[in-house]
Amino acid sequence: MKITRITVFGYEMPLRHPYRLSGGRLLFEQLDSTFIKLETDVGITGWGEGCPWGSTYLPAFPGGIRAAVKELAPTVIGMDPTGPDVVNDAMDTALPGHGYAKSAIDQACWDIAGKSVGLPVAALSGGVFDQDLTVQSSIGTDSPDAMVANIVRHHELGYTVHSPKVGSDVASDVARVRAIAAGLPEGDSVTFDANRAMLPDQAIRLMTQTADVDAYFEQPCETYEECLQVRQATTQPIILDESIVTYADLVRAHADRACEAIGLKIERVGGYSKARRMRDFCVQTGIRMNIEATGGSVLADTVATHLAQSTSQRFLRATWLCHEMLTVDPADGGARNLGGFTRAPNAPGWGVDIREDELGEPLAIYEETL
Ligand code: MG
Repeated sequence: MKITRITVFGYEMPLRHPYRLSGGRLLFEQLDSTFIKLETDVGITGWGEGCPWGSTYLPAFPGGIRAAVKELAPTVIGMDPTGPDVVNDAMDTALPGHGYAKSAIDQACWDIAGKSVGLPVAALSGGVFDQDLTVQSSIGTDSPDAMVANIVRHHELGYTVHSPKVGSDVASDVARVRAIAAGLPEGDSVTFDANRAMLPDQAIRLMTQTADVDAYFEQPCETYEECLQVRQATTQPIILDESIVTYADLVRAHADRACEAIGLKIERVGGYSKARRMRDFCVQTGIRMNIEATGGSVLADTVATHLAQSTSQRFLRATWLCHEMLTVDPADGGARNLGGFTRAPNAPGWGVDIREDELGEPLAIYEETL
């Protein structure tokens, strides 16, 4: 089997509500996603998605995906998509870095690999654990009362793990942590995610002043070194998210005892293939994981659930369904919210049927030159 055509679609996805994170300094109102369709000489088609949450969340942006796919297309066309490691090796040689762009191609390869043998990708990733996957809520930065109300609203929908966004000034964040700890529904769990907004002194003051609260704190600071400084001065479990990009980042974090859990985001770490290797390291070393999409439609969410579905619950904290925050939904099937839980589909590949007409005219088509 070989890849014969790559089609690139851009798709604007408005958020239901404006969303603020990193202490309010980052505002999002819509996401600009890129969908990649791979076609093959045997008629099997695969889909992947790249949606880096605008241009301010990561060192990645929608136009970067599209430019990198153009650069990678001559390498990828003609390759066998049922060997994603081989395709990734060739992409890494053709264009070092830019993992968030390669991720969409890698995802489409896995979709084809699953469809070619009639199995869900989770089954090709070590096996399907018979477990429901916890979906975490994502609570934008707001007043303490508004954030508590938002958490209660999500609890009533079935959510049991919540990710309120913090990271403004210390006094306001202490008030948020206190209010949320007091208002947290019985049995629910919370992660205070700063999305790297704080300097170490702020994070240490916040966490020290709330050391009696049973909670996780996520990516307090911009750099790995700053987060490590916070880890060494505090006691609550820390989740590293934006700082974990490569396998080497993960190995270093483990060696330094820099975190107790990570946010394993498929697109940020370079795709499903690379995320799977990092998942295996976490299982072997006892690092808990949130396995989720960086962002995107039900396609990106579903990709992440396949990795989570093939990972024992013992190592998982939660996943996330970004597509619930959107006003558009260009696909049928996929991992949907079943009252605060989800499951990867049993259908071959990702189990997501893209309604291609809704994506509009392609931005680019790259084909085999005969
Ligand atoms: Mg995070």
